[in-house]
Amino acid sequence: MKFFVLLVLTLFFSTFALTVSRSEIPEKYKWNLKDLYPSVEVFKQKRDSFEKRIGLLKQFQGKLGKSPELLKKCLDTYFDLHKELDRLMTYVSLRADEDLSNSENQKLKNETFNVARKFSEESSFIEPEIISIGEEKINSFVREYQGLKLYKLYLSRILKEKKHILSRVEEALLARTSLMSDTPYQTYSIFSYTDMPFPTVKIDGKEVYLNQAAYTKWRANPDIKVRNLVFPKFFGTYRKFENTFGTLLYSEVKKDYFYATSRKYSSCLEAALYPNEVPVKVYTNLIKQINANLPSLYRYLRLRKKMLGLKDLTYADLYTPLVKSVDVNYSYEEAQKIIENALKPLGQEYEKYLHRAFVERWIDVYPNRGKRGGAYSSGNAYDVHPYILLNYNNDYESLSTLAHELGHSMHSMFSNTYQPYVYSDYTIFVAEVASTFNENMLNHYLLTHTKDRKMKLFLLGHLLENIRQTIFRQAMFAEFELEIHKRVENGEALTGKELSDIYLKLVRKYYGHDKGICRVDDLYGIEWAYIPHFYYNFYVYQYATSLIASTHLAQKVIHGDKRDVEQYLGFIKSGCSDTPINILRKAGADLETDVPFKTTMRVFNQTMDEIEKLMNEKKK
Ligand SMILES: [Zn+2]
Repeated sequence: MKFFVLLVLTLFFSTFALTVSRSEIPEKYKWNLKDLYPSVEVFKQKRDSFEKRIGLLKQFQGKLGKSPELLKKCLDTYFDLHKELDRLMTYVSLRADEDLSNSENQKLKNETFNVARKFSEESSFIEPEIISIGEEKINSFVREYQGLKLYKLYLSRILKEKKHILSRVEEALLARTSLMSDTPYQTYSIFSYTDMPFPTVKIDGKEVYLNQAAYTKWRANPDIKVRNLVFPKFFGTYRKFENTFGTLLYSEVKKDYFYATSRKYSSCLEAALYPNEVPVKVYTNLIKQINANLPSLYRYLRLRKKMLGLKDLTYADLYTPLVKSVDVNYSYEEAQKIIENALKPLGQEYEKYLHRAFVERWIDVYPNRGKRGGAYSSGNAYDVHPYILLNYNNDYESLSTLAHELGHSMHSMFSNTYQPYVYSDYTIFVAEVASTFNENMLNHYLLTHTKDRKMKLFLLGHLLENIRQTIFRQAMFAEFELEIHKRVENGEALTGKELSDIYLKLVRKYYGHDKGICRVDDLYGIEWAYIPHFYYNFYVYQYATSLIASTHLAQKVIHGDKRDVEQYLGFIKSGCSDTPINILRKAGADLETDVPFKTTMRVFNQTMDEIEKLMNEKKK
């Protein structure tokens, strides 16, 4: 979960020289870590006593099958310790992020990580022991002893792994493959981020070293000449190493195949989704539904071409903003008001927690020298409250990021309030639903409360681009991943050239190349080599499913009644107390059907209707 959040937001990472030191920032804009521990001294005492208590687990080892009472006692002890550890880790991680150059805090964090490692080692016997006791005996324990009811789902989740767990010798051997299994990704990273020789180009008279960061900046340039310079140069570099990148990605897919077959899964896709309790159908349904809705993307691309005033739309024209950025300023205090108003439809309890986030200083607002970049929400301190790290910059992006992170925090707050600790942590699959739900609500609120035409166009354009990049583009990635894994499952070998052919065919389908909608030159078949996510084992589809589910849930709340609000709150109260798909289904967003897709595409098309209306008004 935390990984996911950071992944999205490190994209916003900006390294500029900051002169403000942390001590110059008023207290009210800094998070209050005293809610975790009143002082470092108290923290250290708690950590010492925690470290001693880890030893308590030893007494249960080898005895879990003796009686249900003993099993319960072990799990109670384990989760008690786990909860305490989460709080300790939250404290040191947040402190360290305040100023990454503060060596005292880094030391505190490293020491605590060592304590965490010790805990993880000393508790590592629990799951294998439960599996070896077996389903029959565990189930009879749960039936005969009321005290174990709480752990029924937890135990069944461990037991369901059994069919994919091998003998002890095989498991030990499999574990040792980790010595080499990360080679493709490590090589990919070091090559593309360090060793790869990127070209320099002359833009506005200045020499620009065209690496990934420069590409993401310049690809959005309004000057078509700049874009047409940047695109071929950047991807041309990747093309030069097509064979190398091909070998790396092929190795990665073979690795997935090795683990999937070793663990007796029927496919790589099933192996990746099964541990997260996501059915294969959710994945294939995404691809099916998005393919059926490609005409909506074509409509958007035609509109884009028209709005940009282009004779031809090409792959290099996709990132430049539809509407010139509007110069709006939101102070942090204004942002608070706007977000509180935008989320009012969710009722009093939500409002209460949201307000607490501001007045109780859950949020670390402004950048300071040495502070971690980007933004995140940390909801691990179960008995306390979530925290948010921001680098607030008074612009629309900052406002939207704050709403996003508050979505995560409210999800944590509700789940921590309504679930026992063991089921409080929501899974990756649903994490970005609550956050992008808030972005949806914010966008809707701003649209209905602004009369300024330019601002409206900006917000509508933002919404369209978000859907293109988060839904269509990620679904295309998902389709590519599935295809290349299938090839390897069928015993086919993959070369860089073949990967480019597969990718080019997909991009051309998605962007309507053969229909004359957007021209995608052969060169852009290499784009797969630029995407690190293809090393994350069927990960990116969740960006798409999250936004589809959240758009649907936001529409229900905006246009629905009390029941729709209750259903949404039911979702954020759920933690991991059911499978992620069931939790969303109960909230009214069934990702195995076409319903949330239809809503999202309706929103997409209505947004285009709105833009066209505003553009026609101008003409009159
Ligand atoms: Zn997020």
